[in-house]
Amino acid sequence: MPNTPIRLGDNVYPNLAFIGAGNMARAIIAGLVKTGYPKKAICVSAPSLQNREFISNTYGVLHKEDNKRNAKEAHAIILAVKPQMMQEVCLKLKNEVNLKDKLVITLAAGIDTAQYKKWLGESVQIVRVMPNTPALIGEGMSGIFCPLQTSEGAKLFVQKLMKSVGEVCFLEDESQMHAFIATAGSSPAYFFKFMQFIEASAIQLGCSKEEAKRLVLQSAKGAILLACEAPELSFQTLADQVTSKGGTTEQALNTFDKLDLEMTIKAAMSAAAEKSKAMS
Ligand code: NAD
Repeated sequence: MPNTPIRLGDNVYPNLAFIGAGNMARAIIAGLVKTGYPKKAICVSAPSLQNREFISNTYGVLHKEDNKRNAKEAHAIILAVKPQMMQEVCLKLKNEVNLKDKLVITLAAGIDTAQYKKWLGESVQIVRVMPNTPALIGEGMSGIFCPLQTSEGAKLFVQKLMKSVGEVCFLEDESQMHAFIATAGSSPAYFFKFMQFIEASAIQLGCSKEEAKRLVLQSAKGAILLACEAPELSFQTLADQVTSKGGTTEQALNTFDKLDLEMTIKAAMSAAAEKSKAMS
């Protein structure tokens, strides 16, 4: 039986069992603790003592070696192991823990909710969440898919959980997860590569390595903040505002068009979405 949930004022905090003590578990636990989730209501389990102790010592949460003991005492179980470990972890949980009345939240890429039902039982309440790495600094973008029978309480709870590490987007259909992964899950890497190429070109044009990185980071940060502060402006309008007729930016953008940067990005995102489909 799970312990009674902790109450603070009007708020009730279900006990959370994180299965897996890696990057994503750490990011979400950091966000939860920062936003006031009671530390004693969070427990993490993983075979690696070093990983568990790191999270426990850093954020003051509980830790256990055994997934079963962790899951038994929880109201919500967060599956934060690598996809290739998921089947083994789920089958063990199904055999050892009564999952009735527990909410299971999975963070894994490429495994759909129908597969979890096969592993954990048809009646299990499962929600799929796809965060991205900026969650590590509280600036993540998480896609959430709740199957039809998910209760309103569970939806609100998952929303609150993921809002502690950034923004959330509810997906109406699970098939939208592929587009979400190509657009938000993978895109931090696209932006990093773009910055890498600008940095390399800047060095070629005569900037020092340190200067190039500083210029790229501040320009990227400025551009993002500008776009965030004016959501009513399209990205095209924002680009137009940088571009004078016959000027330097126009030359650069014309080169993008000539080499068909747009087509390259479309092809890359289609490849990411196709890979996501192939994995599920
Ligand atoms: P990670 O490798 O950092 O962490 C995995 C953890 O699982 C490790 O602490 C490991 O000790 C633990 N583990 C291994 N076997 C276990 C077992 N039998 N029982 C309990 N714990 C076990 O991985 P991560 O980056 O935190 O990813 C976790 C999940 O989140 C993955 O399914 C991944 O697809 C998903 N995800 C990650 C990202 C990302 O950017 N890192 C983004 C979206 C989704």
